[in-house]
Amino acid sequence: MSVASVIVDVPAKQTDREFDYAIPKKWENVIQRGMRVIVPFGPRMVQGFVAGLKEKSDFGKLRNIKEILDIEPVLNEELLNLGNWLTEETMCFKIQALQSMLPSALKAKYDKGLRIVEGKDTLIAAELLDSFHNKDVIPWKEATEGNQASLFQKEVQKGNLEVVYFVKDQLNKKTARFVSPNVSLTELERHLSTIPDRARKQRELISYFIENYGKVQLKDLLAAVETTHSTVKSLAAKGLLMESDEEVYRDPYKDRTFDKTSPFILTEEQQAAIEPVRKSIEKDLHDVFLLYGVTGSGKTEIYLQAIDAVIKKGGEAIMLVPEISLTPQTVKRFKERFGEQVAVMHSGLSIGERYDEWRKIHRKEVKLVVGARSAIFAPFENLGIIVIDEEHESSYKQEETPRYHARDVAIRRAQSHKCPVILGSATPTLESFARAKKDVYKLLTLEKRMNNRALPGVSIIDMREELRAGNRSMFSGMLFTKLKERLDRDEQTVLLLNKRGHSSFVMCRNCGLVTDCPNCDISLTYHRYNHSLKCHYCAHEEPMPAVCPDCGSDHIRFFGTGTQKVEEELGKILPEARVIRMDVDTTSRKGSHERLLNAFQEGQADILLGTQMIAKGLDFPNITLVGVLTADTMLHLPDFRSSEKTFQLLTQVSGRAGRHEKAGEVVIQTYTPEHYSIELSGFQDYDAFYEREMYIRRMNNYPPYYYMALVTVSHEDLMETVAATEKITSYLKSGLSPAAIVLGPVASPISRIKNRYRYQCLIKYKREPKLKKMLRTILENYQQGTAKNDLQINIDLNPQIMM
Ligand code: ADP
Ligand code: ZN
Ligand code: ZN
Repeated sequence: MSVASVIVDVPAKQTDREFDYAIPKKWENVIQRGMRVIVPFGPRMVQGFVAGLKEKSDFGKLRNIKEILDIEPVLNEELLNLGNWLTEETMCFKIQALQSMLPSALKAKYDKGLRIVEGKDTLIAAELLDSFHNKDVIPWKEATEGNQASLFQKEVQKGNLEVVYFVKDQLNKKTARFVSPNVSLTELERHLSTIPDRARKQRELISYFIENYGKVQLKDLLAAVETTHSTVKSLAAKGLLMESDEEVYRDPYKDRTFDKTSPFILTEEQQAAIEPVRKSIEKDLHDVFLLYGVTGSGKTEIYLQAIDAVIKKGGEAIMLVPEISLTPQTVKRFKERFGEQVAVMHSGLSIGERYDEWRKIHRKEVKLVVGARSAIFAPFENLGIIVIDEEHESSYKQEETPRYHARDVAIRRAQSHKCPVILGSATPTLESFARAKKDVYKLLTLEKRMNNRALPGVSIIDMREELRAGNRSMFSGMLFTKLKERLDRDEQTVLLLNKRGHSSFVMCRNCGLVTDCPNCDISLTYHRYNHSLKCHYCAHEEPMPAVCPDCGSDHIRFFGTGTQKVEEELGKILPEARVIRMDVDTTSRKGSHERLLNAFQEGQADILLGTQMIAKGLDFPNITLVGVLTADTMLHLPDFRSSEKTFQLLTQVSGRAGRHEKAGEVVIQTYTPEHYSIELSGFQDYDAFYEREMYIRRMNNYPPYYYMALVTVSHEDLMETVAATEKITSYLKSGLSPAAIVLGPVASPISRIKNRYRYQCLIKYKREPKLKKMLRTILENYQQGTAKNDLQINIDLNPQIMM
């Protein structure tokens, strides 16, 4: 083939199609669909993906492909098709869909520089010619920031130098130096006797290789023999040893050993649940199973055994886990069972580490990936099962373009591979449970906890009554007593501060002024460590004022309870307690999350205090008490899922207590104990919650009774924003069927971010074949106009966040 159609890395409406390029002769049999290439685009060089190959183009003169970046396709046929599907479903540009399926190390970086115009090298100032010694191009930064900047500029003006654009590869394979014997074992032995005793280190080195004949990494060798590189070099000079640089994987788990575990004998209930899954694995059937079972009922063991069945059959598996529960403990369970066959992918890894894990999959060196959302794109070609644990977690939806939900991608991929999907949860989303009830998904239920361990007893405490009784502390009498008991018995407690939608804002107690962000329509959050106020949307930061900027009063303080404040209060009422605090501040550094959890597991603290991030995946035998300080902060968010999310969180966190021999207790503090999501979480009664919540959803025409689409419009000018949203709303109203409910225009719950006003239009619908096409039209209309007016349109199908 001599022509390649390429999707270029220029995300814009006008370039959202394939462009034809000529394939130079030398690559005619090399270039394949799914490879990355570098192509000229206007004056620049850009990265692109080969989407098709053909003999001829309808266009006249084609430009040449400049470089190939891969020797094997990085996207296989299935993933290329999946890219088209993503483009359609999420309304993104083709290039965005393709890039989102690959590790970011494969995304090109662009740069520019200066180059001598052909034939002009004799005209250039001599001092500059020196800079070009051995170099074709001087990077832009070097040319413009060095002290020769004005010289460079002059030469450009004279036409002797030109600006060139190029693509930098981010991809950096890691190499390491290795040492291996260069002669046979007997030769080594023979040489050993010829080396004099005073060259003791040389003798030891040779002895090392006699005992461990083979290749070893230099640094390990030096450590083992306790010698220096020069000893190795002198033996290499004698031709006895050989040094080489070889690619190594960055293995984030290399310092750990995993003892192999064997499958448990399944309980009767587990047996019944796994049987249908085994059937679809055997028969290559695409079924979606919803595995509904309380925490500790043995779901993970079912995943492990189903995956095992797939691997034994020669297949591969994807195991998705929410980002925040992708703890070392979770990874360990999979590595212990499947050893070297496991790759791990999550955002805690560096770009290089993630790239290396991806390559293990790409090269078919592993059979299973355990990862967060984006691992759903793992380039396996023989997928036999996809498992999504905690399927209700909102982090499975990507909140930036392309706005895909991993569950939808999983089902799509499983269809192409004819393999089953397991969605697992103790608190499934209403959407999934409703589908299971209608037999769209197959429901598998685990009712009992392992060893019939009782669910922890839950007490719900009305904080209003505490206040009436004169308790102004953030700890109810009961929680305090139980905390103290734990200290006396040397048992551990998990304390959850339900912080989402609840930041520590600053208010003047004299005039009521709340300090807001000057750019966004939300209050600033107080950060104690540097005594400043910060905006979580635009990163605006200002010092905490000493007096109220409005009335001058010094009664200005911050409200709301941050984890730091809880920690302080704990220090006052239980000074003997050792506390580990886990929140965004203490876990921002790489590896700190793990370190804190390990410290807690090793018993270095009595109380683990934290935000949502502690609710998942903890499975420590010594935790016998879970306290929730403020159960209802999430209930008041402008989001129809707020009850569902509250119920899920409380149920999850309650599941952390008493998972082992010791019985557990849970104390939930709330200002609205009568709310059904709090009351029912006390009984851990999902079924009752489901009935109740479904009724409310039906009354209000929310999912799963209706689908939703959210159009958000933003612009710096309020009138422009409103006018555009009005136009969009009436266009939708006029084109959709009368059964569709089109709400808007209304201001978004956060009505301004980064100085841009935000308005929205919400569409609720059951069947609207024309909707996607209309939404595309809206996007296209406004995307074309982006140059002259800076209107932004965001379309979110099945939105998870209503802000
Ligand atoms: P879930 O994923 O539903 O929270 P797990 O699979 O983690 O439940 O099981 C809870 C505990 O029970 C774990 O410690 C696990 O090792 C153990 N377990 C699971 N299945 C069995 C079994 N069939 N026999 C004995 N122990 C089991
Ligand atoms: Zn004031
Ligand atoms: Zn802001």
